[in-house]
Amino acid sequence: METNRALRDENTLHLPARALRFLRADQLDQAREAIELAREQRWPLLVLGGGSNLVLTRDFPGLCLQIALAGISHRPLDGEWVEVSAAAGESWHGFVEHCLMQGWYGLENLALIPGTVGASPIQNIGAYGVEIKDFFHELEAIDRTTGKLRRFTRAQCGFGYRDSVFKRDGRDRYVITQVTFRLRRKPRLNLAYGALAQALSHLESPGPRDLFNAVVALRRAKLPDPAQLPNVGSFFKNPVVSEGQFSQLKTQYPELVAFPDPKGVKLAAGWLIEKAGWKGVCDGGVAVHEAQALVLVNRGGARGEDVLRLAGRIQADIQARFGVGLEIEPRVY
Ligand code: FAD
Ligand code: NAP
Repeated sequence: METNRALRDENTLHLPARALRFLRADQLDQAREAIELAREQRWPLLVLGGGSNLVLTRDFPGLCLQIALAGISHRPLDGEWVEVSAAAGESWHGFVEHCLMQGWYGLENLALIPGTVGASPIQNIGAYGVEIKDFFHELEAIDRTTGKLRRFTRAQCGFGYRDSVFKRDGRDRYVITQVTFRLRRKPRLNLAYGALAQALSHLESPGPRDLFNAVVALRRAKLPDPAQLPNVGSFFKNPVVSEGQFSQLKTQYPELVAFPDPKGVKLAAGWLIEKAGWKGVCDGGVAVHEAQALVLVNRGGARGEDVLRLAGRIQADIQARFGVGLEIEPRVY
């Protein structure tokens, strides 16, 4: 176990917090023992994957446990499905690519999302019309209050839009150790998002590898690489508003970007922020990204409080202009 450990290189916003204690667990028993020790000693516990959805605002006064469990296994099922389990510390993108190479399909739209497999259920990661809940089967997690392993079915995970039970009632209670997906052995591409369909329109019958490559290329063209320009992806969730509020806004702003949603109408938060003139604005080393206004970047030397200050200014302005509340997507510590 390390002490007074810098976390700057462990979070993709590159924020300068430290952990009083730090342990990288690559074995299940090691993780269980560390959780037990933290419980006995009453140390606060911060569970860390790739640090790509975290805003660290202060030094952490307890144990930061980085989950580095590795391994992928599979079990063919009857019919067209295969069950694939990955340990929580596997890289998400590496896992997606591995599945593609094995001929296990469904996750192609989720290529190039940073972070670990173990964090993927926390916010039910999604992109280009696919969310992990579409292929999720079950997960295993250590209950921090008892130290015991527990299984969660899809229903028990309570998945929603960038949401799950692990952000609500189960917040800070479970350490996910393994996630199991049910994937297809015959590809069925999801090209519902216009940008993807357009990127593949030159091919008569695109396959899953074409889809994977198109997602990777679109993301590389539009999103800043955290290794070059530190960020945590979308800083705010897309807000869902009522039909009534949407109609009013659409009358005022005919070019408003919005999509149907089971709970109302989903507005593109990036459009609202750009329309309000925030693109490129920089404050305290933090800037609204030039190519995608939903992304805040650390241009160098920013601290967590600088990130939250700019985010707060944007939230207040969007509320005042459009009457829409923006919710922060990453976890703030
Ligand atoms: P971390 O940032 O380490 O942790 C995030 C949260 O999960 C924390 O609360 C942490 O305590 C908890 N956690 C992590 N691992 C575990 C575990 N094993 N058990 C219990 N709790 C755990 N997200 C999307 O949904 N779609 C996207 O398209 C997308 N694109 C992105 C693009 C970029 C450039 C970046 C930087 C981020 C993007 N994200 C996206 C956000 C992020 O990549 C995902 O949320 C990812 O799942 C976070 O994984 P992580 O391992 O880095 O989690
Ligand atoms: P985009 O294609 O420019 O689209 C802008 C917004 O419109 C997206 O947020 C998306 O919502 C929504 N959208 C577009 N087409 C849609 C459709 N057919 N049906 C419903 N909603 C639609 O977005 P982008 O910034 O380039 O990102 C591409 C994808 O990667 C998006 O799905 C986005 O969520 C995901 N992404 C997520 C993060 C993150 O950190 N969470 C970071 C980067 C990219 P949704 O966001 O609901 O899909």
